[in-house]
Formats: sequence, C-alpha cells, structure tokens
Amino acid sequence: MTNTTLHTDRNLWLKILIGMGLGIGLGLLLSPTSIALVDEYTALEFGEWVALPGIVFLGLLKMIVIPLIICSIVLGVTASGDLGFLKKTGFQLVIYFIITTFISIFIGVMVVQAINPAQYISNSFIEQTIASTDAPSEIFDKLSIPQRVENLLPVNFTEASLERNMLQIVIFSFFLGIIMLTLPKNRTKIFSDLCEFGQDACMKVIEWAMKLAPYAVFGLICNITIQIGFDTIAGVGAYMLSVMIGLLAMFGVYLIIVSIIAKRNPFEFMRSIRNTQIFAFSTSSSAATMPFTLKTAEENLGIDPKISRFVIPVGATINMDGTALYQAAAALFLCSLFGVDLSAGEIFLLMLTTVGASIGTPATPGVGIIVLATILSSIGVPPEGIGIILGVDRILDMCRTTLNVSGDLVASTVMDRLASKKA
Ligand code: ASP
Repeated sequence: MTNTTLHTDRNLWLKILIGMGLGIGLGLLLSPTSIALVDEYTALEFGEWVALPGIVFLGLLKMIVIPLIICSIVLGVTASGDLGFLKKTGFQLVIYFIITTFISIFIGVMVVQAINPAQYISNSFIEQTIASTDAPSEIFDKLSIPQRVENLLPVNFTEASLERNMLQIVIFSFFLGIIMLTLPKNRTKIFSDLCEFGQDACMKVIEWAMKLAPYAVFGLICNITIQIGFDTIAGVGAYMLSVMIGLLAMFGVYLIIVSIIAKRNPFEFMRSIRNTQIFAFSTSSSAATMPFTLKTAEENLGIDPKISRFVIPVGATINMDGTALYQAAAALFLCSLFGVDLSAGEIFLLMLTTVGASIGTPATPGVGIIVLATILSSIGVPPEGIGIILGVDRILDMCRTTLNVSGDLVASTVMDRLASKKA
C-alpha cells in the first residue's frame, strides 16, 4: 500500500468559493445579457482569456486521469488481497448503484410531476429557442444489447485511451489487478512498484494543479456567466428550479444513507466533502474531479484505500445519480411541453432507460444532454426540443456533477462500513 498523501491548503474551499463568487460577479458585469459593461465581442474575448488558468488546470487533471485510474484500480484490487472480497464488494456495489440511481430518477419524476414546469414556458420562448439553437448533432448510436456488451470490452487499449473511454479503461485495469492477484508476488512486484510510483506522480500533479484551483474556478465561472443568456435562464427558470430541487432532495437522501447505513455524522460528512463538491461544480466533470474525490475519501473520510480505490474510479464512471435525475426530469418536462402523453407504464420504461443511459454517460461536461437526445427520440419528443434546455445546460451540468461526485463518496462510506462490519 502506498502512503501517498496530498498536501493541500486547509482553507482551499474558502478560496475556491471566493473565486466562484468573484467570477459570477465579474461575469454578470460583463455579460451582454445582464449589465453589459462592455460590448459583446470584448466580453466573449475576455471570457476566453480569463478562463485560461482553468483550461490549464483542467488540462493537468485530464492528463493524469487515465494513469491514475489504472494505478488506483490495480493497487485497490491487489490491496484487497483476495478475489472473494472483490466479488462480494463488487456485487454489493452494483446493487447499491442501481438502487440509488432508481431513487434519484424517482425523485426527478416526482418533482417534475408536482411542479409541472412546462406550464410556465411561453410559446414565444419555445419558438425562439428552437429556431436559434442547434440541437446536439452527435446523438448516441442506437445499439443492440450484444453490441453494447461488445463495446464494453477494451479490445484495443490505445483506442480506449484515445477516445477516453473510461468504462473500457476501468475494465482493463480490473483485468490487470486480478491477473496480479493470481500470479506469485515475485512476478508482479515490479508492476506493483510502478503503479505506486504512478499514483504518487499523479498526486504530485494534483498538488500543483490545486494551487491554480481558485483562479481556475474564478475564470471558468466568469466565462460561463458571460456566455449564458439571462433571458434564457428566466425562460426556463421553473424547469431549472425543479431539477435543482430534485438534486437537493437526493442529496438529502444521501445524508440519510450516510447517517443510517454508514453510521457517520452527516454534518461532518458534508464538511469533509465540500472541497470536492465545489471542485466538481466548477469543472462539471466527474472524471476530472476523480483524483480529488479519491484523496477526499482517503484523507478526509478515512475510507480504507482498498475500498476507495475500487469504488471511486468505478463510481466516477458509472454512478451518476445527478445525471439520471436530470435526464428523467428533462425528458418528462419536454414531453409535457410537446404534448407527448406518457402512461404510468411508459414513465416506468423511461425510468429504466434512464438508469442505463446514466451508466453509459461519459463523465465529462455536457454529455448528459447528448444522451438525453437519444432518450427523447425514443419517446417521441422532437430532438430539436433540446434547444429549449440547451442554453442552461451548463449550469445544470455543474449541479448534477456535484451530486454525481457526492454519490461516489457516499457509496465509499457505505461500502467501507459494510466491509468493516464483516471484518
Ligand atoms: N458532467 C457530468 C459528469 O461528469 C455528466 C453529465 O453531463 O451529466 O458527471
């Protein structure tokens, strides 16, 4: 086991929060659709430049994500020591992920049914946004289940890393870890040492990147605020609010899980993960946040590394409760906007589809909405309807990614508790 530690500033969360606040403030001053201190061209140009530290920061994190996933999973699997432990934890984890994803989708459906945000949208807004926004051109392929299974297999590792197919990389790393377990120690030591070095090296890069974090967040949020039209937010405010209420409610469920199942103080838990949440919010990427999530799990929550190094990389890739909630809520909202009536059975089918869709959604910014386009076309909503929610997607992406990452940390505490009970 490595004793990798990451030295970060204890007040980092506060600095990041200040960066976020200042970024929003400056963005509002410059945004062409709010105070508009400068002309639109200058504002957009400025936004691009001010986001530069953020681009470098995200680049550094993206640079290490693949080696970190491989090293963490290999070390996690080998640290567990036996395949029996792995099978049991893996099985429990999959069941846990499916149950929480269902709860999350259920909350999304309930909130949209209760608020019915479609009733607050004006016809002129619908016409204007559909005409002026391009629907995502890249709609996910409709593949059969055997084809999907085939796509899970990392037949070509170079291709998997080129396309940043995290699920394939996770599966490949599991294979490596399991192979290590089945070979005599003297034959695997060299690779295990290499993985320990890889993990230490990645943590060093994160440590450097963290120094940039407050400036990065400031710039990224400022740029986004400049770009987002405030009339767009006003137009779909009720829909945004519904999704946000749903995400908050799911976070409430997490806290209940943390206190009842993981037997931890929920307030302490919230305090321990706030850095990571702010980070996920600012980057909109579970994958880019993963190194940090891992660190939070081990150092702030004291999770056994053999659990965290297994749960976090897998969770960051397939456990997306925020995305699932959002996809179900957005699909229902657009259905009622376009007069597509869904029976209770169809809503249930939609929930099932969303579980699969959220698992398949890559952990990077803005892809949840592309996967949503596929769900929409399967239930008869015109895909260009997505134009209506595209304008505010980035904000919701930030919120749902925060929940996605929190969900991975909750899952680690639960698995840690279950494993320690057995021990
Ligand atoms: N940005 C999300 C994530 O990385 C995925 C999504 O678009 O919903 O978790």
